[in-house]
Amino acid sequence: MNFKFGTAINCIDGRTQEPVIDFMKQKYGIDGVDMVTFPGVDGVVSSLGNFNTIALIRNAVAISIEKHGSRIIAVVGHFDCAGNPGNREHHYSQIGKAVQQVSSWNFDGKIVGLYVNDNRQIEEVN
Ligand SMILES: [Zn+2]
Repeated sequence: MNFKFGTAINCIDGRTQEPVIDFMKQKYGIDGVDMVTFPGVDGVVSSLGNFNTIALIRNAVAISIEKHGSRIIAVVGHFDCAGNPGNREHHYSQIGKAVQQVSSWNFDGKIVGLYVNDNRQIEEVN
């Protein structure tokens, strides 16, 4: 079996899962996405507090990278997020900061920022 994994750090929001999976499979030639979810996760990972939650997220991503061989990590924010309310610019800013934070974890992989817009389309943030 050569199932190719990717990784997404995504909101719990049920509107975001399928667009992210479809986009990542198409764009990165992977077969499936390990989904690490937390409400409003772009806001959580981009902030300087939340050490415990960020540690849990990092541990989950580490399993995907180290055990599943994922080499692509997407950090996702989205329109109408209940866990992290704000407009598109708010999310773009936090997704950018979250990508920097995840980059500092030094995993062997590419890190990208994605925004799921009000048409459930994926916008590449970085
Ligand atoms: Zn959300």
